[in-house]
Amino acid sequence: MAPVTSSRAANGVYNLPMPRTYDLHTHSTASDGTLSPSELVARAAARGIGSLALTDHDTTAGVDEARTAAAAHGIEVIAGVEVSVSWRHAVVHVVGLQIATDFAPMQAGFARLAEFRDWRAEEIGRRLAKAGIPGALEGAMRHAHGRIVSRTHFAHFLVEAGHAKDLRDVFKRFLVRDRPGYVPGQWASLEEAVGWICGAGGIAVVAHPARYPFTATKLRELLGEFRACGGVGLEVISGSHSAADSASMAAQARRMKLLASVGSDYHGPENPYLELGGLPALPADLTPVWALWTDAAHAVGS
Ligand code: AMP
Ligand code: MN
Ligand code: MN
Ligand code: MN
Repeated sequence: MAPVTSSRAANGVYNLPMPRTYDLHTHSTASDGTLSPSELVARAAARGIGSLALTDHDTTAGVDEARTAAAAHGIEVIAGVEVSVSWRHAVVHVVGLQIATDFAPMQAGFARLAEFRDWRAEEIGRRLAKAGIPGALEGAMRHAHGRIVSRTHFAHFLVEAGHAKDLRDVFKRFLVRDRPGYVPGQWASLEEAVGWICGAGGIAVVAHPARYPFTATKLRELLGEFRACGGVGLEVISGSHSAADSASMAAQARRMKLLASVGSDYHGPENPYLELGGLPALPADLTPVWALWTDAAHAVGS
């Protein structure tokens, strides 16, 4: 399973020959997380994570800061992203790992998604105002700090303004289908998202696969299309999976011949139930996505 890491004299950093701890799905203030990229990396290092992927929603804006912090902490930061995809009237998330952040078609795609997010934020604000909740856009923008605007930022505002008791409560009562503040829309297609990631030299992974409201058949159809587009990974271990979910996704990875990934989907310390790292190990027979790591793209602090 986890490979044994060797010393890295070339980078001036030595790792003891012990299994590395991976967390390949995390968020910072570049999207809807609450820690800055440097704070996130410092926390990961303190928790003994050896390899951290920063996978903000539809942006790589936090990657440079995370890499600089990683060099100081002697851990590996993987340049990543979590792309929002519209697939058969549902939203699916595709994580990209080890991506070249300067790949122009991918950044052009992210710019298009950011434009949609900005329009959607205004529309969410208007719809919440009609439902008797004024000031939501301004409230969400305060939490977004001028970066991409997520429903999570609206959720923080709704909790702060006393309309819901926590984020979970918000996503039951607002911002979702048939509730105030819901705005449907078109994200990237599956083909586009996987194409951007592969074009950027990265590894495409279906995020938190047990979280979608799909039957087993529909999930397999998604994974089949995903593979046909060039996708290779499945997030078998996720912070949002139960033990049963992980077992069932491990079975899907075997059946669909996908590599397995591990990620907490950490968004910040406000959620006491979810921490960086601390995830169960992958079943030993699965091939981890890091079997594909290329050294040039993941050298410590590079
Ligand atoms: P967006 O990409 O702006 O539509 O926002 C999606 C984000 O909302 C996800 O990445 C999660 O961080 C957050 N989210 C969705 N559902 C929930 C939930 N039930 N509880 C907490 N956060 C959620
Ligand atoms: Mn999020
Ligand atoms: Mn997600
Ligand atoms: Mn995520």
